[in-house]
Amino acid sequence: MTRTFLGMPATAPAGVGHLRGAEPFPSAARRSLADPQLRRNLGHATKTIRVKSAGVIGEVPDWQELRAAGSAIKTDVMARLPELLEQLEAKVVEAGGVVHWAGDAHEANRIVTGLVRATGSDRVIKVKSMATQEIGLNEALAEAGIAPVETDLAELIVQLGNDRPSHILVPAIHRNRAEIREIFLRAMPGVDPALTDEPAALAAEARRYLRQTFLTTTVAVSGANFAVAETGTLAVVESEGNGRMCLTLPETLITVMGIEKVVPTWRDLEVFLQLLPRASTGERMNPYTSMWTGVAPGDGPQAFHLVLLDNGRSAVLADETGRQALHCIRCSACLNVCPVYERTGGHAYGSVYPGPIGAVLSPQLTGVADNASLPYASSLCGACYDACPVKINIPELLVHLRDQAPHPRAEAAAMAAAAYAMNRPRLYETAQRAARLSRLAGRRGRGLPPPLDGWTGSRDLPDPPAQTFREWWAGR
Ligand code: SF4
Repeated sequence: MTRTFLGMPATAPAGVGHLRGAEPFPSAARRSLADPQLRRNLGHATKTIRVKSAGVIGEVPDWQELRAAGSAIKTDVMARLPELLEQLEAKVVEAGGVVHWAGDAHEANRIVTGLVRATGSDRVIKVKSMATQEIGLNEALAEAGIAPVETDLAELIVQLGNDRPSHILVPAIHRNRAEIREIFLRAMPGVDPALTDEPAALAAEARRYLRQTFLTTTVAVSGANFAVAETGTLAVVESEGNGRMCLTLPETLITVMGIEKVVPTWRDLEVFLQLLPRASTGERMNPYTSMWTGVAPGDGPQAFHLVLLDNGRSAVLADETGRQALHCIRCSACLNVCPVYERTGGHAYGSVYPGPIGAVLSPQLTGVADNASLPYASSLCGACYDACPVKINIPELLVHLRDQAPHPRAEAAAMAAAAYAMNRPRLYETAQRAARLSRLAGRRGRGLPPPLDGWTGSRDLPDPPAQTFREWWAGR
């Protein structure tokens, strides 16, 4: 049985958060393509991760079985999400935590801001979290006079540079070390003016700044990679140790988690903890995996709040084809193999979720009309499907969403005319002859005339053949 209604089937609201870009993908992509430094940085970084990941995946003889298991668990979760979320809520409360339900970004931001205010703190430390970026939590906190400090190195670079993240896993992938040094010198409090662009020196400087912040801040905000319904346990995986410090040092911990992140049991977690590191960072095992269940007296944060975020997810869940996008474990493997992402980078997608998964998740969270160009940000080569550790059929979703996107009137008229001609053999033959005449008249290699020129704006118009199939056939 499939139940999808969680009581909040609306799409994510406009005017808050970062799911909609200021311009359509083709115009934003054109600008990115004109930046050779960006393309060099991206090409180098994605190739390095791809090679590393392929090496460690090749070591696992049952990788395909693991992928199938991950996919099956996620399908099961989506089929009984309401029941699993209620089980999770009961277990978190039983362990001393408080659970809040947020229908959208406005509500989640209001809840978190209120919780921080109640502690009296005017600063929070943050673990890297896509959900809080999605809802624009940093902006909401800043508006309330609360300073959010990102503690993941790449997120810190993005924050200090007044920039936007461009990759799910490596948000500053578009920056090279010289650019990072310049950002630190410009914006990091107490920075050493003799700082070099050696990676070790840059990391040491960030560590010095962050240590002071960790030790003097009493509230932390995190996301969550997984939540185990049977015990109420939350899990964060990261590779720098900053997350571990945020999750253990402060007095209050607030976790914002998308409702799709729940898994039924610890056994299920085992599958994802094998899939995720190999597919994302190309590591055999994740360096820091932090798990906590409610509150433990005298150990770690003494107040724990879990904010369960919908923000359009129920609307995605209601689409039986589209809901696959909620299976995503944010490993970013699809970004690293995507020929479109590698050339345009993440900013062109306009949403915090870039690359192939962004092209199918963002339009569903916002409603396709608000991100209508994203399902076309793909060549449908299928590399993302092959790379995805939970077997999300992204090409299928792209086609599904293209079908829902509003189509220009000229395109609909051209398709209707083509269908009319193809249904009438004589007319079709005449059209073929006319196409050949246009070739003789010198239209070779040029685009279609308006209003059909949008189609050939980014494609070559193939030459009509010298002989049609019918002529070839008749000659035999
Ligand atoms: S869609 Fe698949 S490959 Fe892409 S980020 Fe999500 S889990 Fe990873």
